[in-house]
Amino acid sequence: MKIYFKELAEEIGINLDDHQLELFKRYYEHLIEWNNKINLTAITEEKEVYIKHFFDSLCFSKIKMLNDESLLDVGSGAGFPSIPLLIAFPNLKITIIDAQRKRIHFLESLIAELDLQVKLIHGRAEEFLFKNHFDVVTARAVSNMQLLTELCLPFARVGGDFIALKGPKYKEELDQSMNAIKILGGTIDKVITYELNQQSRALIDIKKIEKTKSIYPRKYSQIKKNPL
Ligand code: SAM
Repeated sequence: MKIYFKELAEEIGINLDDHQLELFKRYYEHLIEWNNKINLTAITEEKEVYIKHFFDSLCFSKIKMLNDESLLDVGSGAGFPSIPLLIAFPNLKITIIDAQRKRIHFLESLIAELDLQVKLIHGRAEEFLFKNHFDVVTARAVSNMQLLTELCLPFARVGGDFIALKGPKYKEELDQSMNAIKILGGTIDKVITYELNQQSRALIDIKKIEKTKSIYPRKYSQIKKNPL
């Protein structure tokens, strides 16, 4: 698997050394061990985890090559996309916020096992205080783009990016999010699509051009009831 994954990553311009490949191996083993106790992922077959979780997370770099940015991963679950990104780009400063305590417990155990530095927060994004702060805010498989924009864009600094990893319905989702993007201080910078295992994937880069007003994000009940 190591050689295969090394070559796959090279196709998108990421060179992984032996240590990084070893970290991915231990990540897979830890994920499967914990998945027997708590529900983290429906995908468990080794090659599938490498492609659909690890490689898909690394595909983030198709839209933005990373270096030492501060990056907030909203609803990271078992660590996607930020943990694979941190393994590939070790100078990143990662913060993860997730509403499920058991997933934060898994991540605490994982970062100790892999000796990674990550700030882990158990909580809801809409209650998080660090607004207009991060170089990059990202999320994968958390909610539709319209709601997600309010959960993520307020936390990007002016000049920073909110980058969403999305599936095939991204166009409709983006159309519905235009108002939210504008109100929250963003503008669409670029959209990149790619195929992964015959499934279409999209990366959406929203550039933050103005500070988000302090009333956002609202309480989740309001975000859901009256989406922007
Ligand atoms: N991003 C991961 C991935 O791509 O596999 C996990 C996706 S999982 C389907 C969604 C995660 O988002 C869950 O772990 C859930 O606890 C978290 N979540 C949902 N809404 C959230 C919110 N408002 N704030 C923080 N975490 C949230």
